[in-house]
Amino acid sequence: MAAVLLPLTNVDFPRILRISWLVGVLAHTTYVFIKSVKQSIESDQEKTLNDQSTSQVLFFPDKMLACKEFIFEGCCHRKNCQFAHEETSLSKLVTILLEARQSLDVCVFTINCRELADATIQLHKSGVVVRVLTDDEQMGSTGSQIEKFRREGIQVRHDLSSFFMHHKFVVIDRKRLVNGSFNWTRQAVTGNRENVVISRDKQLVEAFSEEFERLWLEYDPSKRS
Ligand code: ZN
Repeated sequence: MAAVLLPLTNVDFPRILRISWLVGVLAHTTYVFIKSVKQSIESDQEKTLNDQSTSQVLFFPDKMLACKEFIFEGCCHRKNCQFAHEETSLSKLVTILLEARQSLDVCVFTINCRELADATIQLHKSGVVVRVLTDDEQMGSTGSQIEKFRREGIQVRHDLSSFFMHHKFVVIDRKRLVNGSFNWTRQAVTGNRENVVISRDKQLVEAFSEEFERLWLEYDPSKRS
């Protein structure tokens, strides 16, 4: 009996307790860490899914033209200003464009809406890489903003054809597509029935980005014979 009990007297119980406590703490910390990583991954996946499914459509015409100060500064200080001081499809579209951080690829048949042109120039000045594709015959039309773009240093290319470069789409940061019937004209803002779909659908964004790149190369003036 003494022989059996003797080894127990040599056992360092406080040490065993300390080690057990340490193992317990480590196991709990590992569990908490793995759980938080898992939650973070799940939340990212959910966010990605939400982003991809977040599509919206804007319809025109707007009942009134949005006030430029309201669009760009959020408030208007002009007395008796006749323009709209509430969200309109135009103000929403400008806001979406101004969310560009890296690139803005504009491929639009007619561009003479000053509000949209100003948003484009503002992005260019803030360092966003802006490229514009448009139709050669529309460039010279009344109120066209293309010359203004060029003066500001924005890259513009156009077709040279009796057929129209009739697209009306924009790719933002190669992640978001703006596409529909909507030309960038005052008439489209306040007169015509128009639609613009805004989507983060990866396949659509990629397809439109590819089309933009294809046309950008095709309309390269240095490669024209
Ligand atoms: Zn105003």
